[in-house]
Amino acid sequence: MTRITAQPGIMDIALYQGGRSQLAGVTDVLKLSSNENPLGAPPAAGAALVQAAQGMHLYPSTDHAPLRAAIGEVWGLDPERLICGVGSDEVLQFVSQAFSGPGDEIIYTEHGFSMYPILANMAGATPVCVPENERVVDVDAILAAVTERTRIVFLANPANPTGTMLANGELDRLADALPDYVILVIDGAYVEFATDYDGGISLARSRPNVLVTRTFSKIYGLGGLRVGWGYGAPALIDIMTRIRQPFNLSVVQLAAAEAAVRDTDWVKDCAALNMEQRARLTGALRQLGLACDDSHANFVLARAQNEAEADAAEAALNADGILIRRVGGYGFPTGLRITVGNAEQTGRVIAALTRWREGATP
Ligand SMILES: *Cc1c(COP(=O)(O)O)cnc(C)c1O
Repeated sequence: MTRITAQPGIMDIALYQGGRSQLAGVTDVLKLSSNENPLGAPPAAGAALVQAAQGMHLYPSTDHAPLRAAIGEVWGLDPERLICGVGSDEVLQFVSQAFSGPGDEIIYTEHGFSMYPILANMAGATPVCVPENERVVDVDAILAAVTERTRIVFLANPANPTGTMLANGELDRLADALPDYVILVIDGAYVEFATDYDGGISLARSRPNVLVTRTFSKIYGLGGLRVGWGYGAPALIDIMTRIRQPFNLSVVQLAAAEAAVRDTDWVKDCAALNMEQRARLTGALRQLGLACDDSHANFVLARAQNEAEADAAEAALNADGILIRRVGGYGFPTGLRITVGNAEQTGRVIAALTRWREGATP
């Protein structure tokens, strides 16, 4: 055993921490810790999955042609520029593995998604963390960190866990200023919850070094199914496809995702519900003395005055069976990331925090 060692970077990986899903002694848990859809999955996806299971003795499509065609039709994209993965996490992994290795650098930002440094280490590349400006991605800080060794910039817009977005024009400014040997990855996990934003599609359409990723895990309510996709220049897609396992997506994943993407009313309805409840939750949190930025996603990041107050707020929510996400690992020891639920669930969050405040300040 002594001469068996992991490849460079692997032992630097801190295992991904998911949102909690259980509370001791509570049966009626309200899980608002992983940005899942309060409406569940579109019924059409479930029906397609059951139907597809009839064919589970047969290997799935290796080129994902029907799913890519459906995504292309719905979003107005050339299917030749699409690649599908086991969640968008796998698409992000294709990027890091195909385009970086030992000696290379991958830039991500201070409060960026925790998968980015993990993906850099998986590829043996060096993760380089750059500061944000008041919880917003800072284009100048990214540009200042670029070196000859930089291969990839990972950023989510809207971002997780802040819920913030780059100002209009900033994404273009970043793409314009990056050297052509650096790939800009715009992670669009929450795009459908934002308004007046194309998710970086126009940039990815017009540039050879911009890749957009999307997921079925958030607005489509299919986090448990694991499907995502990427859109970029044919040359990028061709390289990534060579390291993609030929049967990475199962027959049920492909069928359910195809049905989901065609259910455009679902996206509209979920986005409308989210927008309404997000505004309600944000307003209530501020009234309760918990600061938060305007969120463009399906969660709100509440910031307590100090860690003790954050602990107390979390304890009050837990006491009421509500799970949220603490985001100390993202540089917010006083932060509570709360997924936006439906009207009843949001009411439950507000009621629990209101009772807590009333008890805390008699
Ligand atoms: C949830 C999330 C994803 C989606 O991951 P999947 O692998 O598609 O489930 C990607 N990026 C960010 C920033 C996320 O929050």
